[in-house]
Amino acid sequence: MSMTLTSEMASQAAQAYLPAFNCPPGTKMHLLDLGTLECDEGWYVEHLDLSSHRYAHPYGYGRLLRAGNTSTVTNKSPENKRRELIVLSVLIEHPQEGLILFETGCAENIDINWGAPLTDIFPRTVYNKEHRLPEAIKATGNDIKDVKAVLFGHLHLDHAGGLEHFVGTDVPIYVHEEEFKHACWAVATGADLGVYLSHYMSLDKLNWQTFNEPHLDLFQGITLHHSPGHTPGLCVMQVNLEKDGTFIFTTDQFHIAENYEMSHPHGWLARDHTAWFNSLQMIKRLQRMFKAELVLWP
Ligand SMILES: [Zn+2]
Repeated sequence: MSMTLTSEMASQAAQAYLPAFNCPPGTKMHLLDLGTLECDEGWYVEHLDLSSHRYAHPYGYGRLLRAGNTSTVTNKSPENKRRELIVLSVLIEHPQEGLILFETGCAENIDINWGAPLTDIFPRTVYNKEHRLPEAIKATGNDIKDVKAVLFGHLHLDHAGGLEHFVGTDVPIYVHEEEFKHACWAVATGADLGVYLSHYMSLDKLNWQTFNEPHLDLFQGITLHHSPGHTPGLCVMQVNLEKDGTFIFTTDQFHIAENYEMSHPHGWLARDHTAWFNSLQMIKRLQRMFKAELVLWP
């Protein structure tokens, strides 16, 4: 006996085997503005501006020169350009899982929790009442107390400082195992001093949940992709919305558009350039495959 596979049967079979691809109907997503930091662009631009330099090259020697704003023989005191960085967070109203928060921004009181010299290097230039995490969530019609899961791209102080709002709760905090281990090591030993801080890394009052898959479908329509380079355990978040398409939230994989568009790695904030470049290629493939909209943090 033989049976002809109709397209309808094939579609049913595929749906039975493939994980649900999009977030469930009714999912809503909000981008939260948690204020603005400012710093020297050498932190996240690798290349020199060679446009007026006699050695300017069509392909840019900048790829070989780390540390933007560096002095040269011909320009011993270059202008130290500064850039603003918007601190963002993503809130997803997921019909099956409830409220999901991706990253939490800075601590509320950075004068106490960061202190100098960090507040001198990375001053927060815009921070009003509406930029506080609880207020930003309230503005979407939700309450921070209803957050059911917090997901992290990485645990740097300007992305995870808002964990202070979840201390003492049993809200699961999802982060890649490599990131969690690195952050604990960095805080405990003082290695990579400053970019991770102890005040939000509570080991006994937060419900840490780690994973080590390179690509994790954590909730329906939400996938975390391990993208090391800026930090060892950084993950970007892919969200597939039924009507609006695919978004990739890139946390600090890219600080500024040039990091992505011109493949320029970070400046002083880079840690593993080879890994970063491989992550860049992976994200470019994802973007092409899903026709995704990339959301950079600045
Ligand atoms: Zn970072």
